[in-house]
This record gives sequence, structure tokens and C-alpha cells, in this order.
Amino acid sequence: MTRLDIHVHTTPGSRCSRMGVEEYARAAAALAPAPVFLTNHGDMRDFHALAALLPPETLLVAGVEVSTPAGDFLVFSTDVGFLEELGPAAEDMSGLRTGGDSIVVWAHPFAGIAGGLPPADPHVREVAAQVDGIEVYNGNWPDEAASRRALAAAERYGLAAMGGSDAHHRSQLMRCWTEVRVPLAGPADFLDRVRRRETLPGREAAPR
Ligand SMILES: [Zn+2]
Ligand SMILES: [Zn+2]
Repeated sequence: MTRLDIHVHTTPGSRCSRMGVEEYARAAAALAPAPVFLTNHGDMRDFHALAALLPPETLLVAGVEVSTPAGDFLVFSTDVGFLEELGPAAEDMSGLRTGGDSIVVWAHPFAGIAGGLPPADPHVREVAAQVDGIEVYNGNWPDEAASRRALAAAERYGLAAMGGSDAHHRSQLMRCWTEVRVPLAGPADFLDRVRRRETLPGREAAPR
């Protein structure tokens, strides 16, 4: 099993983060050969800085987090130019999938909704139809009932069940993760695994 921390913020790309790009590059080197992900809020500048800092053999997967009225979404693509066109916020989800080779993951689906929503809820059904994966675990929103419902939504709608630390600080890396069975061959392989729903969510410890 390979653990992937698919949801990470650095500064200055995400102003909410306290982890600088160089700090993340050092932390990532310590976790090598685990693939490295970056999902700043509609900002790809740190991605290029990070790519320049990491050893050339490092597998780096490009992503952005986009906020919409329907929720927050992680968009991953092998087309960095497409990701660069996405801003930190969008009026709806329609633009998130227009990149030829991209996937969309529903981040912390029940953030701010303690206990989550039942899988049959119209909002869940509507969003689930437009994503490939869903965060069952998110480091910033520990909520057992919400995680159970996110997992149930993944099963009901056939989504990839995933986890992300949503780290804004080095100490928060890998507090939640996404597992895949054999090491990834590259960013395109990550997209394929999610499309084939070959992921498992994991986390450090159950929240209280
Ligand atoms: Zn978010
Ligand atoms: Zn985030």
C-alpha cells in the first residue's frame, strides 16, 4: 500500500497556510519515495517553485482547490495549463471538468454541517454526479458521523473514497491520507486509479 497525502496547502500560494514551499519540499523528501501533492486555492505558483526544489525523480501531482456554492473541490490534472486557468472560487462546478485529463474530488463534503448529510440528500446526489472522488476523512473536519455518511455516499454513487490531511502546517501532513495498492507510476496513473475507484481512505486516529 502507498499512502498519498492528496490535500496540502503551502504559503504564499495559500495565504491560510503556514508551511512554506521549501519547508514542504524538505518534509516531502523525508517521506520519499511517496508522491507529492499540492492543492493550493486556485494558485499554481508554489507548484512550480516546489517542482524546482524537489529531486527530479520525485513524483509530483498538480492540483488546485476551488470553492463553489456547492462546496470545495480538489481538481487534479496532468494539464498544468488547465489548472492555472482555475481560480480560487467559481460560481458553479461546470468549469472544473473541462480539462481533457482531470478529475474532481469533493473536499470535506460536510464541512460546517455537523454529522453530515444522508447520501440520499438531493445536494449530495447532485454533487456526487459531478465528481470522481470524495474525502471521507479530512484533517480539518474530523467528524465520525460525517465520515460514515461520506463513505456511504461513495458506495451509493460509486465514487472513489479518499482522505486528505488538508495540511496548513508541516505537523499536519499525513494526518489523513488516500491509499493505493501499488506505487504510482506517475500523475496520469493517479488520475486513472481515482477513475477506477481504486482508493481507500485512511487517517491517523479516530477523532473524539
Ligand atoms: Zn477547503
Ligand atoms: Zn484545503
